[in-house]
Amino acid sequence: MLKPGATIGILGGGQLGRMLALAAAPLGFKCHVFSSERDACSFQVVPRATLAEFSDEAALEKFARDCDVITYEFENVPAAAAAFLAARKPVLPNPKVLETTQDRLIEKNFVAALKIATAPYAAVASEAELAAAVAKIGLPAVLKTRRLGYDGKGQAKIGKAGDIAAAWRAVAEAPCILEGFVDFEREVSVVAARSQDGKVVSFDVTENEHRDHILKISRAPARIPPALAREAGRIGQRIAKAFGYVGVLAVEMFVVRQGRGRALLVNEIAPRVHNSGHWTIDGASVSQFEQHIRAIAGWPLANPIRHGRVEMTNLIGAEVNDYRRWLSMPGASVHLYGKGEARPGRKMGHVTRVFPD
Ligand code: AMP
Repeated sequence: MLKPGATIGILGGGQLGRMLALAAAPLGFKCHVFSSERDACSFQVVPRATLAEFSDEAALEKFARDCDVITYEFENVPAAAAAFLAARKPVLPNPKVLETTQDRLIEKNFVAALKIATAPYAAVASEAELAAAVAKIGLPAVLKTRRLGYDGKGQAKIGKAGDIAAAWRAVAEAPCILEGFVDFEREVSVVAARSQDGKVVSFDVTENEHRDHILKISRAPARIPPALAREAGRIGQRIAKAFGYVGVLAVEMFVVRQGRGRALLVNEIAPRVHNSGHWTIDGASVSQFEQHIRAIAGWPLANPIRHGRVEMTNLIGAEVNDYRRWLSMPGASVHLYGKGEARPGRKMGHVTRVFPD
């Protein structure tokens, strides 16, 4: 159990690391961010920073010496760097989790082994295998690279058999999975924290709206029946437990109609704090960021109380230039990430609005 004054190392320097560091400060912790990007927006809010490549063992060694516990804010931390650090200091959640979540096929197999439903899927390593997978799963379908995909990158939709060759070229012939296209009613996510003593606490299920494959709006609570929300919570809990997880994770799911009822299909696991949990900063008594810090510090988790109906809107690319309008909106909390150029698709900030019940 860490004492106030301890140093938490964060691998990755984006807005998630920034908000983790901002949540750690009121608990008395200092954060040290390790990032390979010169203008990492987390650097602005921490007392100590390392700018180095993840392959730089001398930098990793020095970083480990300065930290009492190490965590990450993005899931593509190279396995070798995570293992190097884990040999020196506690790294939480356990880097073994990354081996599963960095590869969509291993991740889907892991979820399926827990008897949790997913879209139908098949592994694809060649154009011939893609044709066979299409024959098995049917169309429409989505081809996704197994590794390094996010926000719709490394994905190609296949609507008709004639699209197969173009889809295979679109993913640059990388190892993939083919997933049946899900005609979902809505998308939801569960953000759950698991403590070092194995207690799991979830936030209310959140409903997510994407535009151009990027999260645009999250609403809590999701407009789903209470029994389905409980089921979503149980799925988050089972996944966290199966990993022996410590910290916050998010599970993205599709809600589909099934007969007269509804069912959940797991789409993706994020082994970190998640964009769909940003509403918790202003909309709940404890944020996902504080909950993650508590978990990795060995502190007790809080039981979050939601302050009302909450809506979080991402400010993407040039939308951030509208910040003045949001500042004058009653009940809106504006968060800007301090990033430089507002490139298209770049997450520049978010706004949370709380509507008390
Ligand atoms: P992912 O990168 O897997 O999180 O996918 C990004 C977004 O693409 C999801 O949030 C969905 O909106 C959409 N999507 C991904 N997979 C599927 C699927 N199998 N069927 C329908 N939509 C999908």
